[in-house]
Amino acid sequence: MRIEIDKNAGFCFGVEKAIERAEEELRENESIYCLGEIVHNGEEIRRLEKKGLITISYDEYRKLKNVTVMLRAHGEPPETYKIARENNIQLIDATCPIVSRLQNRIKTRFNNINKDQDQIVIFGKEGHAEIIGLEGQTRGQAIVIDEEDSLEKIDFTRPVFLYSQTTKSKKAFKAIKKKIEKKIKETQLENKARLKFHQTICGQVANREENLQEFAKKHDVILFASGKNSSNGKVLFKVCKEANPRSFFISNVNELKKSMTENCSSVGISGATSTPSWLLKDIKNKLISYTK
Ligand code: SF4
Repeated sequence: MRIEIDKNAGFCFGVEKAIERAEEELRENESIYCLGEIVHNGEEIRRLEKKGLITISYDEYRKLKNVTVMLRAHGEPPETYKIARENNIQLIDATCPIVSRLQNRIKTRFNNINKDQDQIVIFGKEGHAEIIGLEGQTRGQAIVIDEEDSLEKIDFTRPVFLYSQTTKSKKAFKAIKKKIEKKIKETQLENKARLKFHQTICGQVANREENLQEFAKKHDVILFASGKNSSNGKVLFKVCKEANPRSFFISNVNELKKSMTENCSSVGISGATSTPSWLLKDIKNKLISYTK
């Protein structure tokens, strides 16, 4: 049986940098706090927790004073920085520079729009950490849309400025943009409603879809490893499944079953931008052990 690990799988550079930073700090300190999961991957979190990383919730963060807290790659709303100032919390800010740039773009747009007319719309998952950070740039006034039915939150007679969460699928963004355009056309009366869109999907994620499609077609079976909470993982697994119906989603080596790779001659192993490469290697080793 041929087994190949997808060379494009593994941490994106934003997550990699955040983890490197956490490990650096943990070499000098016994423990550090991290606001929210540093990466949407339970296996990697457990590895870092053993080294002293303590994941805290927003409620816990609000109660802390005079400590150091790390901010992960997804970025934070202004409120998080305000609490830090008030509670004398020292921040280790590992926000991905691409997310920071997007936050600044949205903030600048928000500061310059006609607040009675223009709408800032973000295509993303409501409640996702990155979305909370982006919404925060608009004092919570941005409209977040994901599925088609959430489009009804938009007033199509008024101008729309459309952005995307960095980890959304390019294809899905295109489709939602088309639907908004159509709705605007249908609703347009005398007014000048218009759509200005900004494709703000991260290049690391966007290119991966096409590469993954090719990779998934090349093998009889695909084992896709990702944390269950990873939104990028869900998007990429969908790409796998469409290209190769014999694709399986697993979060750790224990979820791997012999029956998944029965009667196949080639297996491809891939993962999300939050999947550590050691996990992909562990899966490969377990597969090899089946063949012995
Ligand atoms: S997916 Fe892209 S934008 Fe998001 S953290 Fe990774 S590198 Fe940064």
